[in-house]
Amino acid sequence: MRQRPDTLWLEILENLDDAARQDVYLRQAIPLSITPDALRIAVPSVYTHDRIERRFRAAIQSVLATRIGAQCMLIITVDESVSDIPKQPENSESEVNQQPLPQAEPGLNRNYVFDRFVVGSSNRICHATALMVSENPGREYNPLFIYGGVGLGKTHLLHAIGNRLSANHPQKKVLYVTSETFMNEYVESIVKRTSQGFRAKYRTADMLLIDDIQFLQRKEGTQEEFFNTFNDLYLNSNQIVMTSDRSPDTLENLEERLKSRFEWGMVSKIEMPEYETRLGILRQKCEDQGLDNLSDEVLSYIAEIVTTNIRELEGMLVRLIAQSTILKEELNLDFARQVLNDVASPTPLSHRKTATAKGIQTVVSEYFGVDPADLVSEKRTKALVLPRQIAMYLCRELTQLSYSNIAQAFNKQNHTTIIHACTRTEELINKNKETQEMIDVLMAQLR
Ligand code: ADP
Ligand code: MG
Repeated sequence: MRQRPDTLWLEILENLDDAARQDVYLRQAIPLSITPDALRIAVPSVYTHDRIERRFRAAIQSVLATRIGAQCMLIITVDESVSDIPKQPENSESEVNQQPLPQAEPGLNRNYVFDRFVVGSSNRICHATALMVSENPGREYNPLFIYGGVGLGKTHLLHAIGNRLSANHPQKKVLYVTSETFMNEYVESIVKRTSQGFRAKYRTADMLLIDDIQFLQRKEGTQEEFFNTFNDLYLNSNQIVMTSDRSPDTLENLEERLKSRFEWGMVSKIEMPEYETRLGILRQKCEDQGLDNLSDEVLSYIAEIVTTNIRELEGMLVRLIAQSTILKEELNLDFARQVLNDVASPTPLSHRKTATAKGIQTVVSEYFGVDPADLVSEKRTKALVLPRQIAMYLCRELTQLSYSNIAQAFNKQNHTTIIHACTRTEELINKNKETQEMIDVLMAQLR
């Protein structure tokens, strides 16, 4: 009898251990086909691909060997559209996927929810306000303006508000957009003469979530359009939530009338969480990933030494886990101390720039399985675009090279290519957790 790929996949999952079965990334995989030689599955991101390769390939192969034969190879392809496909094969009675994840509004990252946001004194007010807005949008806290430094949870909260509203009221139209995307779509609507469509999209939203509004500084045309969008939404009591890396009054080159509108509702500052909250976030992160073997001692140590931002905090955890897996060493306090020793230095992490362009190109090529020479070539094949862009971004983040220096390192004439690569990558990081985790892994290898 011919085996169906979906039933085979469920059988495989049933034969894996608990951690694997509960792995949210593994659950994203969609079985495509099965032949005596290959089981093909599709996953939505490179990160998921790599995670399955690293953690689950061996176990999956061994089940495949008993079910189909030792020659049957697992082939994983990355297909971004997979995330739009229902997660559970039809008519399946298996318990493996018994809780299909709720469908998120397009553009919303469903990992960023209130349940996964750890609250402490540094972010309590901000969290409470965000929660209030998600439950009662368009009321007294309209607009809500959240500001604070990099990696402190602004984007997380923004998505959480949207996710909560769309879970409570699926018929409501929630729009999440970065300010840069808003600008790009606006410019495109002018070029293509589709302003009506652009306006229809933004002005009919029940809730507009707009990230990193500081980007609109000096973009007068877009500011004007945003001003009009803002007024329309506001007058119809539709909720607007904005984030920024600085407060409204310190935004420069932004029209006064816009700034004053930002202060009409509620302005809320988010700060670096104190030690206990950092520890809570690490515990939460371990829980999300099914890591129950990490001692509190190790987590406390990480929480103690990383004091700058949460993205760094998560990055440290990923780094430790990666190193202990690679070196096959137990992850205890001694090991953590050894690996993170240099981190405990007084220099803030973000200021320690020791990587080189060449080193970054090598690590990134290896990670994506591409030839380093291709990374700095003129070739524009799809498989090279993302790795190249990420390598450029990492050069900016981890070295002291200027945009022009980086352009040279990639054989580019023009430094605007690098600026574009950096903003595009930042956008991807904000949009999906996989990209961010992928960057964390790469950074961990480079520091
Ligand atoms: P920002 O937009 O302020 O730069 P992000 O929202 O992207 O920061 O947060 C960076 C990372 O830290 C994300 O993975 C986010 O989930 C995590 N994070 C930040 N604050 C918290 C928190 N209080 N609880 C759990 N995770 C958090
Ligand atoms: Mg952000």
